[in-house]
Amino acid sequence: MAVATSLTRHSDYSITVFSADTHTAYSQCGMPFVIGGEIEDFESLVLRSNKYFEEIGIDLHLGTTVDSINIEDNSISSGGNDYHFDRLVIATGSKAKIPAAIPGTSLGNIFTLRTLSDAMTIEEALQKASSVVIVGGGSIGAEMAAAISSRNINTVLLNRSPSILSHNIDSDMAEVVQEHLESLGVKVITGYVPSAMNGEKDISSVTVGSTEFPSDLVIFATGVEPDNELASNAGIDIGDTGGIIVDDYLHPSISGTFHPDIYCGGECIEVTDLITGKAMLSQLASTARRMAGIITNNLTSGPAEFDPILNPWVAVIGNIQVGTTGITSKKAEENNIKIVTGLATGSTRADYYPGGSKLFIKLIFSERYLVGAQVVGREGIKERIDALTLAIKKKTTAQELVKMETCYAPPVSTLQDPTVFAAKGALKKMRRKI
Ligand SMILES: Cc1cc2nc3c(=O)[nH]c(=O)nc-3n(C[C@H](O)[C@H](O)[C@H](O)COP(=O)(O)OP(=O)(O)OC[C@H]3O[C@@H](n4cnc5c(N)ncnc54)[C@H](O)[C@@H]3O)c2cc1C
Repeated sequence: MAVATSLTRHSDYSITVFSADTHTAYSQCGMPFVIGGEIEDFESLVLRSNKYFEEIGIDLHLGTTVDSINIEDNSISSGGNDYHFDRLVIATGSKAKIPAAIPGTSLGNIFTLRTLSDAMTIEEALQKASSVVIVGGGSIGAEMAAAISSRNINTVLLNRSPSILSHNIDSDMAEVVQEHLESLGVKVITGYVPSAMNGEKDISSVTVGSTEFPSDLVIFATGVEPDNELASNAGIDIGDTGGIIVDDYLHPSISGTFHPDIYCGGECIEVTDLITGKAMLSQLASTARRMAGIITNNLTSGPAEFDPILNPWVAVIGNIQVGTTGITSKKAEENNIKIVTGLATGSTRADYYPGGSKLFIKLIFSERYLVGAQVVGREGIKERIDALTLAIKKKTTAQELVKMETCYAPPVSTLQDPTVFAAKGALKKMRRKI
């Protein structure tokens, strides 16, 4: 919808959008916060009405699945009708995964959370629930665990890896988030997968090891995979990550040749990791929105290129914020990248100023240069992650970070920013190594 909307402003294309979803132009990112009660209702998440799109000239087909893309004759098929295109944008997103090996996953009241109607169905089931098990301790699982426990519902968060948020942050930083979730009353179990979902018609309990946890509903937040059946059936090349292979202009390839009239963007494509140079998936609205800008440019004025990414990410889990950019220590190890880390604990405000909290910073350097950062605390996280993302892009060294100028006022910072202490810690280790 971002591409379609800006095209109406910058071109005279006649635009048709097909979406299998029943709603459009809503914030998926806001859904956990309706469940947690910070946002009053789901309607508030709908940013533009269908009427708005009609008024600006977009022919919108909701609840309409595209069955095939016929590349040879520039058309798509949906519900037995063919539609011609001069240019095609594929943005089919991802679909939620439920591990197939667990018995009982077809019982009632077992959900995944991807669409607005998923969130509404979960909300309805939560009204009658007194205990919930969430499987998967990634960002959606952790955000949902905090949201559900805030409603005085017994909440268990079950995670396969030894630490939560393992795709985003290292275990030392994840500990802080886990402790926070536990302080909210969430029972966090790591290093386990459920062995069975039990119940007659609906779920009533979940078996984990030798324990059976009562559960009125279960949410699987066990990750998503690119929804690329449509593209793959059309002969579009899919990479090892499961995402569509694209060139810098976001054209997909067919048997190795990039197609000039087709663009792909969002979660369904693979992108390049700026640090490792390898293909990866970026499952973020922020990345998808930047791709929409590149596609619109290329469909109008062009050419614009989508560069390799650092995938900066932030989540708000209960009262704590957690952010990351670039690579983690774990990813560095997986890619044989030698790193030096610097850790610091500081405060978000001057010690005497009410309302401050601890701030945890981890900086990761490779060959003197910053290649990753993780920050956890109650405030000031997004701003630091954004600044450190730019620092990585600008190839900043530990020495330069030690000398960085930072601003100060008691309600928003300490006199010396903890980022500087983390850089100093790393620099000291580097000097010791030399
Ligand atoms: C609970 C939750 C919280 C999130 N929080 C954040 C956050 O805080 N920050 C952040 O950056 N990101 C967040 N995300 C991720 C973000 O929402 C996604 O990265 C973003 O929506 C991806 O956009 P997209 O256009 O690629 O895919 P989508 O928004 O999923 O859109 C894909 C659309 O394609 C449709 N489609 C698929 N196949 C077909 C077909 N054959 N025919 C017709 N239509 C089809 C689907 O129905 C869907 O409507 C969150 C996601 C969820 C679920």
